[in-house]
Amino acid sequence: MTALLHALPIQAYLEALHQRLSDIRDGEVASYIPELSRADPNWFAIALVTVDGHVYQVGDSHQEFTIQSISKAITYGLALEDRGVEAVLAKVGVEPSGEAFNSISLEKDTGRPFNPMINAGAIATTGLIEGKSWPDKLARILQRFEKFVGHPVTVDEEVYCSERDTGHRNRAIAHLLRNANIIEEFPEEVVDLYFRQCSIRVTARDLALMGATLANNGVNPITSVCAQQSQYVDKMLSVMTTCGMYDYSGNWVYSVGMPAKSGVGGGIMAVLPGQFGLGVFSPLLDRKGNSFRGVRVCEELSRDIGVHLLKVVRATSASVVRVHYDGACIHSRRQRLSGDREALARGGHRIQVYELQGELMFASTDSLIRSIASQWDDTDFLILDFHRVVDIAAASIHLFTDLLARFAASGKHLLLTGTEDKYAFRRAIARGARTCGLERVFEFEDTDRALEFCEDQLLGREPPSSAPEPDDVLRDQYLCQDLSPAEMARLQQVTRRLSFQPGEHIFQSGDAATSLFFVLRGHVDLVVRTGQRQERRLVTVCAGMSFGEFALATGQGRSTAARAVAAVECMELAFADIDADLKPKLMGNLARELARRLSAEAKQLQILG
Ligand code: GLU
Repeated sequence: MTALLHALPIQAYLEALHQRLSDIRDGEVASYIPELSRADPNWFAIALVTVDGHVYQVGDSHQEFTIQSISKAITYGLALEDRGVEAVLAKVGVEPSGEAFNSISLEKDTGRPFNPMINAGAIATTGLIEGKSWPDKLARILQRFEKFVGHPVTVDEEVYCSERDTGHRNRAIAHLLRNANIIEEFPEEVVDLYFRQCSIRVTARDLALMGATLANNGVNPITSVCAQQSQYVDKMLSVMTTCGMYDYSGNWVYSVGMPAKSGVGGGIMAVLPGQFGLGVFSPLLDRKGNSFRGVRVCEELSRDIGVHLLKVVRATSASVVRVHYDGACIHSRRQRLSGDREALARGGHRIQVYELQGELMFASTDSLIRSIASQWDDTDFLILDFHRVVDIAAASIHLFTDLLARFAASGKHLLLTGTEDKYAFRRAIARGARTCGLERVFEFEDTDRALEFCEDQLLGREPPSSAPEPDDVLRDQYLCQDLSPAEMARLQQVTRRLSFQPGEHIFQSGDAATSLFFVLRGHVDLVVRTGQRQERRLVTVCAGMSFGEFALATGQGRSTAARAVAAVECMELAFADIDADLKPKLMGNLARELARRLSAEAKQLQILG
């Protein structure tokens, strides 16, 4: 297992990338915070954590360093939770400044910092963190980081003291912010808390897991702890995208295309929403203050595996309709007498079926709905089969609830199948149904059952097909076509009448087959087992039809089980009681019927693909 994991393509790729970039010696270790200059320029780590919690790591991925500016993104998320979007926006903007991280970029009139990723905005953000006291605020910040990294975190006292003793520019910024009333507390306390937050120790693996937690909508994919309320994750990622890489942010989006935040400690945290988080650490910095190798890692990875956020990776309007047909061409597995078959051939087009597949995004759902709309007047029943759908985007859910309302308003029926595991969709549909006063949403386990329901409804509107009277039931049976009156009389004599309760088995798969049955009343399901507790129906037969007759040709045991759906009455004909001269006639009729069913089946297959 371990050997296999080491050979995984991403692990191998990261190892090669790490090796390729290790020789880079450009850049310099940050020294304006004296303690940072002690970092070893050779340190180099790459870690990637997927949203299902798999960790890939290469190099010094357990080497600790201080998080510095990367902390700004996380504290921003906490401030949004503490104060709400409006209150935070009142104090800190979201506009890229295009200036260096420590610039004094404040709006002219209001004194509001441009964004929370530059020092001024980050200090203002730290000033918004709730807490009864300063130690309490620090404890809340540390707890927040712990949820992101999945273990306790500590402040590097040396780095903190070093910055505290030399960070006069940040202190000046804090006082300017206090002057403009952006900070409402004592500025020295706020900036002290900010210095401590910047001095939290992390590893490249921690950064990758923090990124993966954001990629996973705020839930840590390893511990399953909710680190960040999901409603603010997109806000955090937005400012990371536009402002996260200091005055290199525009270039970054252009060449890497992932929301990211870097810190002068040499770390970079990048996020590919919905997929993974990336943590890189190498303390040699370029002129903009970004890790030299870190930027290269992200640029090469983005190019090599094509993860740029704005890359058009799929055309979402294409092929979510696996197959589309109507109830005139494709029928349920319920066998019907010829009168009903003809009625369905005439009116079955009023049942429209769409078997869907893949991801239903806004554009693909819109295209589906336009197709449905183009047949609106001819449609009474619409079956949507979601069995092969892997995801339904929120925008698509809105479109479907709107469709449901339109169907309800015009007395048409919308039927859904395969939605069992699509919880958000089901909840929204149930809510939508209540809003438009629908008693129930028609949900079926499979399209076959939904189709049967629609056919029954449709046939209810047609004059009833000539259901045979129980006494001449044998005459109308396909098996008995062209039998002489004497042969019919002989058959009547040797059949015996049987009744079954609803749900009762008439025979089981594997039973010896010694007779066939003519149905007089009720329905019989012929089913096969497809799993421990699962079965599939092959056909449902009703009054006027027979079952169990195939064994007449095969001479083998039962290949299906037969179960009464409603109270069933039937006539049993033992194979042993069939006269030798009658048997060829029955076999001929059986062959003709099989050929008819086979060609109907072939037509359906052609449509279903
Ligand atoms: N604590 C550092 C400062 O304010 C963070 C700078 C950074 O990582 O960009 O100077």
